[in-house]
Amino acid sequence: MKVFVISDMEGVAGIVKWEQTTGGDPMYEEGRRLYTEEINAAVRGARAGGATEIVVMDCHGAGKAWSFNSLVPDLLDPGCDYVVQEKWTEYTEFLEQGCDAALFVGMHAMAGAARGVMNHTVSGQQWRNLWFNGRLVGETGINAALCGTWGCPVLLVTGDEAVCAEGHELLGQGLTTVAVKRGLGRFSARQVPPLRARGLIEDGARRALGDPKAVSPYDPGRPCEIRVELTTTSAADEYRHKAGVEIVDSREIVSRADDWWRAWQQFFF
Ligand SMILES: [Zn+2]
Repeated sequence: MKVFVISDMEGVAGIVKWEQTTGGDPMYEEGRRLYTEEINAAVRGARAGGATEIVVMDCHGAGKAWSFNSLVPDLLDPGCDYVVQEKWTEYTEFLEQGCDAALFVGMHAMAGAARGVMNHTVSGQQWRNLWFNGRLVGETGINAALCGTWGCPVLLVTGDEAVCAEGHELLGQGLTTVAVKRGLGRFSARQVPPLRARGLIEDGARRALGDPKAVSPYDPGRPCEIRVELTTTSAADEYRHKAGVEIVDSREIVSRADDWWRAWQQFFF
């Protein structure tokens, strides 16, 4: 069984502040160690659940050369491969080859989510809301749509309670979730300590893989319209000359295509 571990940093147990997730900040080294060990727990669980090939893809934009490069290489479980992307959603090879399941680890809730620890969608500064065919989504939705493009179901979401609820809402009750914190505000939470969180995630990954049919691959629908509400007019400016992308309001853009992947590629890359 081929398993794709897609991960972010804000939903990791022990992480509640930007200073823990921003490359170069003093607290970042602690954050990336917590992150890497949580990924290792998911890799162990995946293996126990029957995975024979595991690829990990970091999707956290930590800034500069740390973007999509936050995992500490020599702390990673030797039983996985890992991908460092230059641009988010760039790597699709493993999905194209036919991947059996995806596990989302360390996720955060969409921008505006009440009690969503460090909630945002893609860019806290530039993006306010994102819709796929009229449905409000966050980064779980983006990564799930990416996997769904090649028929790969998402079986596990871990992070805070808000993103677990978001995952269930989008992907259904067959989704396995592991909440490692409950947000009090955007930068405060009651948390499970990392040592216990890793055990929960290992167990969650193993259980999730027990029923690969529990969740259907996510398809936002065909044709597909991606709508982004930005925070400033200057954020919209960069889309002025992109084929297939329409600026429908001074701060709102729409990308339409036959399917989600085409609509995503023509505005995001
Ligand atoms: Zn992130």
